[in-house]
Amino acid sequence: MKTKKCSKCKENKDASCFMKCKANKSGLYSSCKACNKERIRIYNIKNKENVIKTYKKYYEKNKKEILKKSVIKNRKYKKEFEGIKKIPKIQRRIT
Ligand SMILES: [Zn+2]
Repeated sequence: MKTKKCSKCKENKDASCFMKCKANKSGLYSSCKACNKERIRIYNIKNKENVIKTYKKYYEKNKKEILKKSVIKNRKYKKEFEGIKKIPKIQRRIT
């Protein structure tokens, strides 16, 4: 079986433990699947933090606008909700 040394964990692993990569001479990625997974996981975590950070910045900048919008939304829902509540009373009067 063909084995390859992972550039990240420095372990000799079976070729099936590596993702295929046509750009590489060996036809395989330099780091194993497990290391790639870990890299992607860390990337996603960092990305998440960045997304939250940018949203927080946006929120701080547009706090008033966002709050205004949410108040308008709440009013709209309240009206709709009250409209639903009123229907049974009218029905009771008819019957
Ligand atoms: Zn590895």
